[in-house]
Amino acid sequence: MPTPRRRLFIAHLYPDLLNLYADRGNIQTLRRRCEWRGIEVEVAAVSLTDELQLGDYHLVLLGGGSDREQEIVAEALRRRRAEWRAAVNDGLPVLAVCGGYQLLGSYYQLRDGRQVEGLGLLDLVTQAGPTRLIGNIAIDSPEAGRIVGFENHSGRTRHHHQPLGRVIAGHGNNGEDGWEGVRYLNVFGTYIHGPLLPKNPRLADLLLHTALRYAGLPDHLDPLDDRLEWAAHEAFVARRIES
Ligand code: GLN
Repeated sequence: MPTPRRRLFIAHLYPDLLNLYADRGNIQTLRRRCEWRGIEVEVAAVSLTDELQLGDYHLVLLGGGSDREQEIVAEALRRRRAEWRAAVNDGLPVLAVCGGYQLLGSYYQLRDGRQVEGLGLLDLVTQAGPTRLIGNIAIDSPEAGRIVGFENHSGRTRHHHQPLGRVIAGHGNNGEDGWEGVRYLNVFGTYIHGPLLPKNPRLADLLLHTALRYAGLPDHLDPLDDRLEWAAHEAFVARRIES
């Protein structure tokens, strides 16, 4: 039986504001890994002035941003809180990085004590700390194996959900409890930039499987020649993490 036409619709939210440390590369990776397998992809760059219809997408990406940009985005997100809650409960796949990850929670408390209210989708809070947690990071994820990248955040995040993984090197959610990121329904939250997906093909494919299933499409993924991706991953582990 021939495979039915497969087409994924991806929303890249507020790329003009949330775009730190090459987060755009995540979109590029998802797009190419689909195209190499004959899966069609439409990526919509959604800006603040666009009317966001979550129901139009099979995967939504939120990147990282400065505190100032985060405040602007938070306000826009909160206006559609009920729609977000319904979509996430329905299984909408979401990848949220750093500032975007923090905004999934109840609030992000700035150094001056002000609280930027988030979407409240997760039972998660973030507090800006006295120092920034910066550097290369490696975690072990039960679903996606070793994940490597770069982190730079002042926020310390705490939650009672399942984490994305356990910190092997670096800081993670708060530099204290040894956990990194969050996994909740089809939501993936993480502090890892760098960008995240090019060096972590297993995680990229996990997101694609999740999005295809959510779209009601066959979710098999032909194997790709990932030698370059794994070489980048291994070089990162060898040079940045173990030294
Ligand atoms: N402004 C947030 C923090 O410093 C997020 C930064 C980021 O997205 N890199 O914690």
